[in-house]
Formats: sequence, C-alpha cells, structure tokens
Amino acid sequence: MRDISVSEITNAVKKLCIDANYTLSSDMEEAICNAKNQEKSGLGKQIFGQLEENLRIAKEENIPICQDTGMAVFFINVGQEAHIVGGSISDAVNEGVRLGYTEGYLRKSVVGDPLLRVNTGDNTPAVIHYDIVPGDNIEITIAPKGFGSENMSKIYMLKPADGEEGVKNAIVQAVKDAGPNACPPMVVGVGIGGTFEKCALLAKKALTRKVGEHSNIPYVKEMEEEVLGRINKTGIGPGGLGGTVTALAVNINTYATHIAGLPVAVNICCHVNRHRSITI
Ligand code: SF4
Repeated sequence: MRDISVSEITNAVKKLCIDANYTLSSDMEEAICNAKNQEKSGLGKQIFGQLEENLRIAKEENIPICQDTGMAVFFINVGQEAHIVGGSISDAVNEGVRLGYTEGYLRKSVVGDPLLRVNTGDNTPAVIHYDIVPGDNIEITIAPKGFGSENMSKIYMLKPADGEEGVKNAIVQAVKDAGPNACPPMVVGVGIGGTFEKCALLAKKALTRKVGEHSNIPYVKEMEEEVLGRINKTGIGPGGLGGTVTALAVNINTYATHIAGLPVAVNICCHVNRHRSITI
C-alpha cells in the first residue's frame, strides 16, 4: 500500500481547475489552428482567428478562456493499492474545486438544488466518477463542462435493428439540433452500448480523448471519420455562422449491451473542450 494524503489531492485538484480553464490542451490548440487552414468560408476563417487570439490572451494574461468555467467533472482512477489518509477523497476533491475556482477567479456556476436554484458560491459540488484500477497511484482527470453545449446533448434508446446507420443518423441529428447553441466548432463525444447511464458516461469520457486520436476498434474508427465528414457537411460552421468546419472530432466509446437494446448518448462539447490529467 502507498499512503496518499488528502492535502496532495486537494492541491492537485486546485491546480487542475485553474490550468484547465486558462489553457487548452495542445491537441485542442493544434486542432483549432489546423481547422483555420481547412475552413473554406472567409467569415469562418476569421472566427478561427478570433478563437486563436482568445486562447493566446487567456494564456498570457492568466484569465479563463470562456466566461462559462463549467461544472467541474472528474474521472478519478484509484489504484487498489493506494491508501488515502487524512480524510475523504470526495471532500478533498471538492475542497480543491472550492480553492481553485476562488483563487483562479473562475465563475461559480453551480446551484445546490436543481429547482430551488441557490448558487453554492464556490462551484461545488463537483461531479466525480471513480474507477478502481490496479496499482498504487491516483489518476485525476478534470473536464470542466460548459452548459451551452451540455444542454444540447442527447440520449437515444435505439432498437438493435436500427444498426450502425441508425447510430450515425442519431449523432448527426443531435449535432444539427444543437446548431449554433453548442458554440461550434464542437467536439462530439459518443457512447454506444451499456445501459441508459453507462452510455452517457462513455460519451462524457470520450470528450477527454485527444483530438485526432481514434478508437482502436477498426469499424468504430471508420464511423468516427464518416460521421465527422457528415457533420462538417451540415454547413453550421464555426460560431454557427456557416462554414465547412462544424466539428473538430467525433470520439466514440463502445461497451457491451443487452440483446434488446442499442443505447446511444451524444455529449456535445464546444470549442472550449477542457481537460487535464495528473497522476499522484
Ligand atoms: S458552451 Fe463552451 S464556449 Fe459556449 S459559453 Fe459554454 S463554455 Fe463557453
């Protein structure tokens, strides 16, 4: 067993909150830069230029890339040989969010109850997904999620007979329905299979995969490429103002499912697709 103190977790989370909101990961930056060259519309190219400038200013001046600094979503892999000392891991993560969002001057966007809607004032609680894995490390991934694009996400409980074509059509339809509201160019996370909640988690996790990295399942990789092509033919374009680059990537995760079902979740992210990881 290896001892890991909760204060280490809190400090790491605080830093992740700030870093993820001030700078995009290099794969996202490169994707935006490459997309500017691919974009055929003049106005679209101009918008990509503005997105690049926005990223540069945020990085140089240590300010958030977007005013919506998101709800703090975490994927945490806890090694089964890790021994957390000094308190609860969830409390440690929430304390890191509280400190990060306060000291980083990040907008506090969380209400404590979905209907009473009183802001908690510190962006807690976070949404935390745990996995128990082999080893004695703790790997923490943060993905702060803006709700312009979150609100455009969809779940479809398709029939097995709908097949691959039905899945592809559902993904493209979700993007068309989202249109400009999801702050394109988007990254489209897709979960296929599992149960109702499992496919949503697969889709959310797919957004943390590097842009440009494909599924290692050959037919899924082909689907990712084909659906991206279809999405970029919709004409929605950067900023929703028309153009040839509506999405930067389609990342699909799959899982086993029941003989009677074909669940599909489409979790849409805007061009501010933030994610950062650290291993303790
Ligand atoms: S959807 Fe993304 S770009 Fe749009 S306001 Fe929210 S975080 Fe910002």
